[in-house]
Amino acid sequence: MTKLAVLMYHAIGGTDVECGNADPHYTVARSAFRRHLAQVRAIGCSASSVVRILDSGQAAGKVAFTFDDGHESNAAASIDILEHGGSADLFVNPTMVGQPQYLDWQALADLAKAGISIQSHGDTHRYFDELSDREVEQELSGSKARIEDRVGQAVVLFAPPGGRLTPRVADIAQCIGYRGICSSRAGLWNTQGGQWRIPRLAVLAATSDGQFCRWIGQDKWEFARMTIRDRALTLAKGVLGNAGYEKLRSRLLRKPDDAGSVA
Ligand SMILES: [Zn+2]
Repeated sequence: MTKLAVLMYHAIGGTDVECGNADPHYTVARSAFRRHLAQVRAIGCSASSVVRILDSGQAAGKVAFTFDDGHESNAAASIDILEHGGSADLFVNPTMVGQPQYLDWQALADLAKAGISIQSHGDTHRYFDELSDREVEQELSGSKARIEDRVGQAVVLFAPPGGRLTPRVADIAQCIGYRGICSSRAGLWNTQGGQWRIPRLAVLAATSDGQFCRWIGQDKWEFARMTIRDRALTLAKGVLGNAGYEKLRSRLLRKPDDAGSVA
């Protein structure tokens, strides 16, 4: 059994955590990001995309790096990863590609050529648990076709916007030709458990270096606490609905000591 940490980033900031219109709670400073890469190397691991792990079947000694939304700051962060022979998955929405502060198609194609995997975050960033099966199919097939056409690389992974998934989504994704789903459920990925709900760890502005080390070092108490918290949030989502949950989540995220796991 191989377990590994799959990290989920959004924007990567400059010298501080301010980064244009990106949500500051989800924006990690570039200096912190570089420390994270150094910490991964210090424990003898390397940064990998999830796609590379699926292709090679090799998960040992890897920490997977993923980025959601395709913010323009992901290009420099990807170069930091490539410089050490690593890879990452960038989950993008075709309708946001090329918009102000988001990577354009040329940049994504260049990153793909350099070894970064460009994957689907849906077409429009709508929440999938609010869509009909037909709309889910359109989002999944439309985004896959557009990214493959513009980037020239197979799209086989999907990360649901806001982490919103229903059991039907995996079935539909599999029919369309996807090979896996990167969720926002917190935890480590046990590769023997399949690839249709890969847990990810949301790295936030508030994530400390100590916490990051416990994640990549697979500290069992850290993950026991996280599982309890994730179950409580999932329950809250079910009870409050998306609108109520968003209010609760935004209140929680205002707390400076928060290191939430759902994005
Ligand atoms: Zn997103």
